Amino acid sequence: MDEGKQKVVVVGAGPVGSLAALYAANRGHDVEIYELRGDLRDPSTTPLNFTRSINLALSERGLNAMRHANQPRLIDYVKGVTIPMRGRMIHGKRPDGKLYEEAQDYDIHGRSILAIDRGDLNKRLLDMLEEMPNVTFFFNHKLTGADFKRNKAWFEVKDESTYNLRDRAREIEIDFDFMIGADGAHSAVRYHLMKFARMDYQQEYIDTLWCEFQIAPRAGSSSAKSKFRISPNHLHIWPGKEFMFIAIPSEDGSFTCTLFAPVAIYEQLEADTAGTQIPLFFDKHFPGVTSLIHPEDLIDQFQSNPHLPLISIKCKPYHFSSSVVVVGDAAHAMVPFYGQGMNAGLEDVRILFDILDKHDRMTNDDSDLEASQREIALTEYSAVRIADAHAINDLALQNYIEMRSSVLSPVYRWRKALEEWLSVYVPSLGWQTKYSRVSFGNERYSEVVRKSDRQGQVLVRSLVGGVGLPLLAGSLFLWFRYKGAIGRAAYGVFYNFMGMVCRTIHGKRR
Ligand code: FAD
Repeated sequence: MDEGKQKVVVVGAGPVGSLAALYAANRGHDVEIYELRGDLRDPSTTPLNFTRSINLALSERGLNAMRHANQPRLIDYVKGVTIPMRGRMIHGKRPDGKLYEEAQDYDIHGRSILAIDRGDLNKRLLDMLEEMPNVTFFFNHKLTGADFKRNKAWFEVKDESTYNLRDRAREIEIDFDFMIGADGAHSAVRYHLMKFARMDYQQEYIDTLWCEFQIAPRAGSSSAKSKFRISPNHLHIWPGKEFMFIAIPSEDGSFTCTLFAPVAIYEQLEADTAGTQIPLFFDKHFPGVTSLIHPEDLIDQFQSNPHLPLISIKCKPYHFSSSVVVVGDAAHAMVPFYGQGMNAGLEDVRILFDILDKHDRMTNDDSDLEASQREIALTEYSAVRIADAHAINDLALQNYIEMRSSVLSPVYRWRKALEEWLSVYVPSLGWQTKYSRVSFGNERYSEVVRKSDRQGQVLVRSLVGGVGLPLLAGSLFLWFRYKGAIGRAAYGVFYNFMGMVCRTIHGKRR
């Protein structure tokens, strides 16, 4: 191996591991990628979660991380399989029984997030890696052990066709200079890292399961746009207080949909083996869906697609010595309600390599010095990234409430409209909605939370000082002057106003 060239082992060839391998390969290291499953590009490979696909929202942080991968073709190659979604489309039923759709743009400046099939994104990253001479793939290799003091790791090697036959597996031992663990929420790298680092670890399964459904393209349509049965440029939401149904467009005119609901609801629907309750449940809570997915298909898809849990994981630190770091879901799996899990994972890679590069400049190709500088860099990375990963983890949990109910609340809309108005007409204030900061910017997540909380406090103070106090004074005056109906009405206005202020505060803290 050349002087200064390191052997970087990436465990997990998901989107985050693949991007990390690209960054490492670009720096001239010898990169080996070990992946439990077969090559995704081979149609016989079982997809992650055993689902046909997951359509994801790719936004600025993910794009920015790819922009910095030093691969000029990558962004266009990825964008070629995306569909812009400029806002949410809320579906519901009015009291008179009529169905309605209401579009809510994500951003007053017209920016969009992008719908993409996770598999398509992953395959494109693998294609880019394939072109790099210093990258070697090891598919069907499962990490089973690691010693981060001696820099050794063990993998079980399997032919996917014999996946369940333990006796056909053999084990190999490898060594490495630096391991990047990108092996997802149930990370084996993290498990072994815990034996070396004094890691705090916290995981939570939320009381919600998810199941995938498909809205088929319109049959026989000729134009690209008319194959979509609902707007292709929105993330569609059927909010229910306790649950929600969402639909994200795919390039072929179909929509990948997800039912998020509490475990008890799933158990009720699963208990009905004939499935007759399923279309009734949809008609009651998600009006209009049975005209997009035939009731028999709804039953079939509910019964044949897996019902999967949602996990939220926080841990710290993310590294040990100069040997290993975990990134992506392996470090901070989060619930999917802010559309940030993968984006945050891709951003991890950009930040990690920025910090490694900063320290690498001091090493002068001396490998001992390189290891000690890497340890300093990894310590800095853990210190910087933990606060941000924890912040987006919490925001993702909070956003479940926003998506399934706050989107219908007047207070939520009022605050969004006011913040957007200020961002356009008084740009010097630097106000933006929290959603814009998270999805269209690259500010640290912890900074987003801080700024958004501050905006909430200023709003509340202005409301109480500018409107609440004069309203209180007016109400008291009317009360003492007229008592009776006018006084009560004035007090009612004041009471409702204060309720709105409280909900603004509550919205901020929730
Ligand atoms: P993974 O995608 O989990 O990849 C890990 C890889 O490691 C896999 O290929 C796996 O086979 C491999 N592996 C596992 N164990 C081993 C082992 N022992 N040895 C070797 N290899 C191993 N994120 C967004 O940004 N936007 C969204 O809109 C969004 N929507 C989502 C919707 C749903 C329903 C769900 C469930 C998630 C969503 N996410 C979203 C989150 C996103 O899917 C994840 O954050 C992202 O896939 C994480 O990427 P990763 O590469 O870290 O891990």
